[in-house]
Amino acid sequence: MTGPKADPLYVRYMTTFSASTLHRRACQPCQNGQDCESGAPLHKAFANAQDAYLARQSAKRRS
Ligand SMILES: [Zn+2]
Repeated sequence: MTGPKADPLYVRYMTTFSASTLHRRACQPCQNGQDCESGAPLHKAFANAQDAYLARQSAKRRS
């Protein structure tokens, strides 16, 4: 099951979310808001994917 349709933007959002979350769960500096060297790219990728996904969602709602 991959949901109603394979949406690349949504898939990226979920993939980066889980990578970021799993890392943060095991990483003290990242939990304290001081992203470590290996965590920073994961959190940034998630933030970017989230922005892109949410931007598209609100664009869709407006039209
Ligand atoms: Zn970290």
